Amino acid sequence: MREKMPAIPPSAATMVALEELQANSVAGQDDGSEVDRHWMRHALVLAQRARDEDDEIPVGAVVVDAEGRVVGEGWNRNITEHDPAAHAEIVAMRQAGQALANHRLVGCTLYVTLEPCAMCAMAMVHARIARVVFGASDPKTGAAGSVFDLLADLRHNHRVAVRGGVLADVAGPMLTAYFRAKRGKPQG
Ligand SMILES: [Zn+2]
Repeated sequence: MREKMPAIPPSAATMVALEELQANSVAGQDDGSEVDRHWMRHALVLAQRARDEDDEIPVGAVVVDAEGRVVGEGWNRNITEHDPAAHAEIVAMRQAGQALANHRLVGCTLYVTLEPCAMCAMAMVHARIARVVFGASDPKTGAAGSVFDLLADLRHNHRVAVRGGVLADVAGPMLTAYFRAKRGKPQG
């Protein structure tokens, strides 16, 4: 199933930037398992592609199946695709559905650099995603505990395990810097 997805290796510049960001990471904090950090770094590289290739809000997402294989990757494509639903998580889940030939992503973990919004959280519930790991919290629209708590709502017939804050000290500043730079320019 992997051959359906073209390899999209990060550029050298992206990797250097990511290493610099990580160098500023606070050592020793409770930051998830090494596996979680590994996949969050993968999602952070995708977030940088949103920013560098599409000038979109830097959010990246990767779907990993129960065997630890990447089955979907995505970054924000709202502006580029003229698609109000093209958040990183939706893009990644659509690709995973195609890769697995199944609209249910059973046993999969979704890593995303920013706390999911309500739209994405509900799509994860519909997709039967097993676990969501996110980076920075979103105090304005976050639906994994910050504003809404949709993934853990007992009224759903499927609940998603959640872990937040993984490499948030990388994902958060990346978003802050993007918005700060945007405010300094005339809005297009
Ligand atoms: Zn969303």
